[in-house]
Amino acid sequence: MKEQTETIVEESLGALLRNKEFLPDLQGSMREQAFTSLSAILSTPNKIHQSFLRVPLDNGSVVRVPSFRVQHNDALGPYKGGIRFHETVNEDEVVNLAFLMTLKNALHDVPFGGGKGGIVLNPREYSVKELNAISRKYVRYFADVIGPDKDIPAPDMGSGEREMDWMMAEYKKIHSGTPYLGSFTGKSVANGGSLGRREATGKGVYFTFRYLFHDFIEANRQWLATSDNPFAASALSVTQRPLTMAVQGFGNVGSVAALEAFNCRKIDHSIVAVSDRNVMLYNESGLNIPALIQFASTNAGDLPTTDEQLQEAQIQAEIRKRDDLVTMDVDILLLAALENQIHEGNMKDVRAKVIVEGANAPTTQEADEYLSKHGVIIVPDILANAGGVIVSYLEWLQGRETQFYSEEEVYRLLIEQMQRTMDTLLPQYFGDPHSLRENCFIHAVSRLSTVLYKQGKLY
Ligand code: GLU
Repeated sequence: MKEQTETIVEESLGALLRNKEFLPDLQGSMREQAFTSLSAILSTPNKIHQSFLRVPLDNGSVVRVPSFRVQHNDALGPYKGGIRFHETVNEDEVVNLAFLMTLKNALHDVPFGGGKGGIVLNPREYSVKELNAISRKYVRYFADVIGPDKDIPAPDMGSGEREMDWMMAEYKKIHSGTPYLGSFTGKSVANGGSLGRREATGKGVYFTFRYLFHDFIEANRQWLATSDNPFAASALSVTQRPLTMAVQGFGNVGSVAALEAFNCRKIDHSIVAVSDRNVMLYNESGLNIPALIQFASTNAGDLPTTDEQLQEAQIQAEIRKRDDLVTMDVDILLLAALENQIHEGNMKDVRAKVIVEGANAPTTQEADEYLSKHGVIIVPDILANAGGVIVSYLEWLQGRETQFYSEEEVYRLLIEQMQRTMDTLLPQYFGDPHSLRENCFIHAVSRLSTVLYKQGKLY
């Protein structure tokens, strides 16, 4: 992952260095020096905080849970990013995810920097009381480095509004008498959270797909048809309907994106497969997503795993092996589970024409290069899944003013922001040979570089 980060930074900076219109004041050896500084700044996190959370368990023993807070870059504003609760969390991963947050915020013009946290545990193995103690300990250990104008955590995989409420309460206790609503985002509405925050990532993922492959293409069909860009031909082929879609992951992102697709009347498509940590469900004429969401909501978030459960919930589906989803013969793959799901081992078997990254980093660098070379359009994480942090920003603003928006207003602002980003990006993407991911990185790095240059940090 570290190499991937460095490659991304080097390639984006290389493209910008060659672009004579970018920072034209910088010439000759000054230009070389500035780009060397930029590369060092962007490929290294500002700070890595690490600690062991010592927490007593219900049975009287004491665990020591490794935990991290990485602050990658704050050129654009306070550090911002989720706290992941997962047993595979490690320092390299958190560093890379913090870097992606820096780029994601820069890409979408969100006035935050990039950060990320991680707690190495499987939350399913702990009681609610223990999770509460762990969450509060995390805040106590990192109390000095977080805060509404310093570093604002949010939910990530394995955490949600419950944990954010607990953490905000602990922050409030420690920093009594100071503003606290902006210390965490992704809180419950009762505790100062924003309407629409929970659904924001999934809705944004589906909107990105719909806007790119429907609205934008319909408006630019003629131009795209005459373009010799290989991605233009791939994009046009996706307009041949009906389309089939498979969704990996049925959590907060996958289930909401699937429901948006199910309810969308603009595009003739059906979701033929969904998977979670246990199982894949398949129905060639389309799955009943609302019924699956209903089932998951009363079964600890899990999809049905037996024919009896399917029958009881009146869901028509075939039970298949979870891992076969990514190589299914579908037009669109929406990845909303873990990272590294498409890799060297399975990339040659991927048959989808479009991959939408709802999760962070679900495609490895090798797979990304291979599939892009073969005309597959990969809608990258930092473009597609930014809905969460965009609405986190709205939540932070609302908390500062203690004035709250309606759900409609939140969605309108979310969609407007994502559309603005795509309207800047897509004409450039279809007009040059870089992949959509490379275009996103170049765009984000150029915004960061301009700010760093103007702040006098590139000597
Ligand atoms: N964890 C989410 C992400 O990866 C949201 C971050 C936030 O809202 O700060 O984008």
